[in-house]
This record gives sequence, C-alpha cells and structure tokens, in this order.
Amino acid sequence: LVETQLLFGLHGNQKLFPCEVCGRRFAADVLERHGPICRKLFNKKRKPFNSLKQRLQGTDIPTVRKVPQSKSQPVRKSNWRQQHEDFINAIRSAKQCTLAIKEGRPLPPPPPPSINPDYIQCPYCMRRFNETAANRHINFCKDQSSRRVFDPAQTAAKLVSRAQVNLSPLVVA
Ligand SMILES: [Zn+2]
Ligand SMILES: [Zn+2]
Repeated sequence: LVETQLLFGLHGNQKLFPCEVCGRRFAADVLERHGPICRKLFNKKRKPFNSLKQRLQGTDIPTVRKVPQSKSQPVRKSNWRQQHEDFINAIRSAKQCTLAIKEGRPLPPPPPPSINPDYIQCPYCMRRFNETAANRHINFCKDQSSRRVFDPAQTAAKLVSRAQVNLSPLVVA
C-alpha cells in the first residue's frame, strides 16, 4: 500500500525512476512513455557507429598487417644469410692468407665464388648478382654494351665533342 502510494502518488510528490537507457529520471507514467522512445533513439544512434567500426575492422587493419609481412620477410632473410656467408668466407680466406705469409708458404688460391642458386649471371659481363641487383644491373649493362657497340649516334656525338675540345684552343688562338 505504501509502495503504490509512492508510485502513483500525488502531483508534485511523485517518485522518480531512472531511465535504464539514458539515466535521466522520470515519473513512472512519463518513464513508461519515454522508455521505448529512448531505446529506439539509442539503437538508431548506435547502429551507424557500430557499422563504421566493423567497416574499419573489415578493411584497414588486415591489409595493413598482412602486406609488409608477406613481402619483406623472405627476401631479407636470404639476403642476410648470403651476406653472412660471404662475410665468413672473406674472414676465413684472409686468415689463411696471413697464416701463409707468416709461414712462408705460397698463398692459397682465392676462395671459390659462392654460387648461390638465387644469383643471376649477367650475360654481358658474366658477373653474378642477387635477384634485385641483377634486375637493375642487367638493364644497365645491356644499355651500356648496346651503346658501346651498336649506337653510331652516340659514338659520333662523342667524336664531335672530343674534336670540339681539341679544336677550341686552336680557334681561340
Ligand atoms: Zn531515456
Ligand atoms: Zn653486367
């Protein structure tokens, strides 16, 4: 009896109840109308926020994380290993050389070039390079060799400039 009097009491003396969604306090009859409206508004506000979050999680994070790992790791590893082997070989052969000099023995032959199956031989100068260096070098070397041999315009230009350098003091004098 006391409770019902509190809930449905006289005007100005009503007990207030907090809205479970927004936390504001309302009289019981007002809260009854406010509650569903407030919940609807809250869901409407929440939905776009959630979908934005999901969109961010769906696209940005995996692409950012996956790409650098799969690309850079294997290349770096093999390069590092090859460089390390070359380094060790160089130290070993240097030690053998100093030892041979100390003992008066003939110098040992230079260490065999480390033949790496990943290395590519340049068909123009026969030097070997790792894959990335070879791509750059072979283009460069091909360009160089083709200019040297096949480009008459280039050699003509060189001859002209050389002739001008030779002639100019004569012209001035
Ligand atoms: Zn509310
Ligand atoms: Zn070359």
